[in-house]
Amino acid sequence: MAAMTRMTIGDLTLTRVLYTDALIDPAATGLTATEIDAVPWNDERWSADGQIRVGAAAWVASQDDRHVVIDPFGNADDIFHDPSFALDHQRAMSSAFDAAGIPIDRVTTVVLSHIEGLGMSAFRRPTGDADGRDRWIPFFPNATIEVNDASLATFDPPNDGHWSDDVWRGLFADDLVGTYSAGASLLPGMTAEFTGAHNPGHHVFHFGDPSGPDATYVGHLAVSPLHLSTGACEQQHLEPDRAWQLLHSFADDGRILLGPLWPSPGAGRWAGNEFVPVDG
Ligand SMILES: [Zn+2]
Repeated sequence: MAAMTRMTIGDLTLTRVLYTDALIDPAATGLTATEIDAVPWNDERWSADGQIRVGAAAWVASQDDRHVVIDPFGNADDIFHDPSFALDHQRAMSSAFDAAGIPIDRVTTVVLSHIEGLGMSAFRRPTGDADGRDRWIPFFPNATIEVNDASLATFDPPNDGHWSDDVWRGLFADDLVGTYSAGASLLPGMTAEFTGAHNPGHHVFHFGDPSGPDATYVGHLAVSPLHLSTGACEQQHLEPDRAWQLLHSFADDGRILLGPLWPSPGAGRWAGNEFVPVDG
């Protein structure tokens, strides 16, 4: 298993806590094997045998004793919350945080770029009650969960949608979720910017001076670094052209880019014609 990634941006430390990298069907990322193969810099770091490589990971921004976890282990809810294996996943993820020197009980905030599934914001704790109703409680026991106000205002999933929608409804009803706004400073040197485009509430996070950041967490504007070369993605975004423009507005000055689902090392720079990963 690849090691974690860690870098320093000003007074902040950014750590990628890795659970596992995996190969998946590229259709889940809105790409085809043909599109992947057409990217000149594509190689085994990004795909293999027609499948695309993704990472199950959590980026953490730290300063002194404050640790902000971003979009932990998202987009695999049906795997990580499968009752048969959920406890094993939770223990392994907790161990990965221990190994990174950030035990889960020292995490102060979980912040989400947008609401799309649950990730490891919370986990199921069976009550054993006769009515069989499970409780969902925060995975990081001392952290507040924060979504942005735009995501909360537009959260209106159908009743027959994904089961995680109901978990969110319960977490909101139990008053376990706070909000941040566009422009909010989540740590000194970490700033949220509203983008929309991917979905109505999507935000990115800048590290360093927000007028010229040293690094940007691009959320789902690029599910894979390959999206930096594959053009507007109809399958991934409400507004594909605007998502593409936003992505390159962040990428084209050569700053460090971080992605939630990017395979190890999970960060790199756009060099104008190829993506160059940071030293993992
Ligand atoms: Zn998304």
